[in-house]
Amino acid sequence: MKAIFSAVQLGHKPKRYLSKGKMVHYPDQPERVRRLLQGVRKAELSIHAARSFSDSMYESVHSARYVDFLKNGFDEWEKLEDSYEEMMPAVRPAPGPITYSPHIIGRAGWHLSDFSCPIVSDSWKVIKASADTALTAASAVAAGEKSAYALCRPPGHHAQHERAGGFCYLNNAALAAAHLRKTYDRVSILDIDVHHGNGTQQIFYHRDDVQTVSIHADPNEFYPFYQGYEAQKGIKQGEGFNHNIVVPVKADDLAWMTGLEKALTLVSDYRSGALVLSLGLDTHEKDPLNGGAVTTTAFAEMAAMISNLNLPTVIIQEGGYLTPFLGDNLASFLIGFEHGQ
Ligand SMILES: [Zn+2]
Repeated sequence: MKAIFSAVQLGHKPKRYLSKGKMVHYPDQPERVRRLLQGVRKAELSIHAARSFSDSMYESVHSARYVDFLKNGFDEWEKLEDSYEEMMPAVRPAPGPITYSPHIIGRAGWHLSDFSCPIVSDSWKVIKASADTALTAASAVAAGEKSAYALCRPPGHHAQHERAGGFCYLNNAALAAAHLRKTYDRVSILDIDVHHGNGTQQIFYHRDDVQTVSIHADPNEFYPFYQGYEAQKGIKQGEGFNHNIVVPVKADDLAWMTGLEKALTLVSDYRSGALVLSLGLDTHEKDPLNGGAVTTTAFAEMAAMISNLNLPTVIIQEGGYLTPFLGDNLASFLIGFEHGQ
């Protein structure tokens, strides 16, 4: 299996985000990339450079004004008198008759859905590199590779049609799925990050040509809180094509594998031509976000189960934060996936 990577992703170093009323250390650090690369090397994947794609590709799942905000918004922010070096929202768009504001403070409130997505001076090139990594992996699979791993940073699955959230800006998995749809009539996205893939759900919620299945810690007690419930099944043409499988916070290997079995049955029944896997390693028992209790060896078992679907598969890196185990967890997954094939 090929791994796709761009070293540009070592940029974008926000210092802080808002958690429980406090500005705390930003967990999506560039060091994650180095540790994930160690995992790729341990699994002996060949590493290939990401290609560059045009903005029109990102607009397959995001609005043009959102892409423009990510690309150019910081330049406007910098011109504000006394603005801080990290763009953050200060206002929230509420339901009701509201109008999109052209002012950068209005746009920041509109497009940044929570307080975990600061934008710094080099964010756009890193966000773009992450999306291009996913799209390069999707291109390889569309061209006939059996599978490819996209080492993406920042992650993407919380990014909605025009809103960033949960350290995510462009939705890498959604972009990969949209790209694969040009080759396959039906594509499934399976999300095994500890957090619900709420951005992915929102982007495809009304569609029946991309199935979305997410296993995640109970949103009653865990981010993203408003989405990820089993009753959220899709609307209009998309009704019945969105599936949420909830496990308890700090669930162990058995609970996650039981959830995965259900998810795999749903994917099989949908008869998709290709799979996008949102691979979060933040289910691990030592992950600092503290949402799961999955062991390193269980990643290999879960990978083999997914691999047994025998579908062309693009594996997209989502969460998984700094622990001494991050590289080993990725290696465990990638080796398990290849052995399952
Ligand atoms: Zn996560």
